[in-house]
Amino acid sequence: MARDPSTELIHHPYQPPAGFGAPQVAVHKASTVYFSDVAAMRARDWRHKTGYTYGLHGTPTTFTLEARIAALEGAAHCALVPSGLAAIGLVNQALLSQGDELLLPANVYGPSGELARHELARWGITHRLYDPMDPGALPGLIGPKTRLIWLEAPGSVTMEFPDLPELARIAHAQGVTTALDNTWGAGLAFNGFDLGADVVMQALTKFPSGGGDVLMGSVCTRDAALHERIHLTHMRLGLGVAANDAELLLRSLATIGLRYAAQDASARALALWLQARPEVARVLHPALEASPGHAHWRAHCSQAAGLFSVLFDARFSVAQVDAFVDGLKLFRIGFSWAGPVSLVVPYDIAQLRPGQAWQGHLVRFSVGFEAVADLQADLAQAMARAFVG
Ligand SMILES: *Cc1c(COP(=O)(O)O)cnc(C)c1O
Repeated sequence: MARDPSTELIHHPYQPPAGFGAPQVAVHKASTVYFSDVAAMRARDWRHKTGYTYGLHGTPTTFTLEARIAALEGAAHCALVPSGLAAIGLVNQALLSQGDELLLPANVYGPSGELARHELARWGITHRLYDPMDPGALPGLIGPKTRLIWLEAPGSVTMEFPDLPELARIAHAQGVTTALDNTWGAGLAFNGFDLGADVVMQALTKFPSGGGDVLMGSVCTRDAALHERIHLTHMRLGLGVAANDAELLLRSLATIGLRYAAQDASARALALWLQARPEVARVLHPALEASPGHAHWRAHCSQAAGLFSVLFDARFSVAQVDAFVDGLKLFRIGFSWAGPVSLVVPYDIAQLRPGQAWQGHLVRFSVGFEAVADLQADLAQAMARAFVG
């Protein structure tokens, strides 16, 4: 039987220095790496990780982290970059050329859309948005220039869970590569490759770190040729990661399964409680039956991230919703998720998803490691004060 990724990560092989049998991976720092002679220098090829050539090309610490992230994603290869957004940028830059077009889901992670609109456009790469909940419309958007389709499950603010295998099937039928932003699933809720992604990136900043203190991203592949393209672009761009950041991630990975499950349980308890509140019009959480794409989540996922959005009733004013967010004491206002502190961000849904008939005011919650009863009390006191009348 295949072992769970969380077990795999803890028992992943690491060879400590001879005579020092400790499981913790050493922090290796280097720019220069010595070669014993000229012949050895000429024989070393950084492309294939047959040895060490230069700090930017990898150290025992970063090679181990790459291997473990690949294990988490069920991949064969991994490249590390300084942030999740840099991972998205690397995929685009490695796989797209002038004149190409990419498709982004309409609920795409905001900065990924910005990257396409402002940077890729300058390089002559165009993009179009597709509705991830309407796979039937996808073939009509794929043209002769389409090279890449980004997938995200669920959308990180509006939480719609798409039919990933169907979207991937349509892409592959037309010879288009698929790349999945797997930050929400983290390699634990589902396997991105098994659901049809050719490339799987993740913001390691979120669940793999879990500490709110590291920024890093990964790009994983199963296909060697695809990895080679990504790896070459990665090296030509000089995208290295810091040894101490890699060490923090190696330390955090051992607890990712426990943290993911704990935040999932807390978030579901709070989402269910909020769903029954009179102030709330709708709770968007893929594990809740009324949430968009719930059937796809149920078909493919065993777990959910500790993340959900709430649509507060349209009868309230923006000022009241802002007062609710300001009135929270444990939920802090801030971006990101999967860290120890519960976070909250209000979004302007009309601006975020123009043309969609969403009713109410959207507030996105990320659940940390505080006790559920305390978080629930915090939500209750802030609602009682902000939503009077
Ligand atoms: C946070 C996030 C990213 C980007 O990660 P950074 O490390 O903050 O650049 C990308 N995609 C999703 C879905 C995210 O939540």
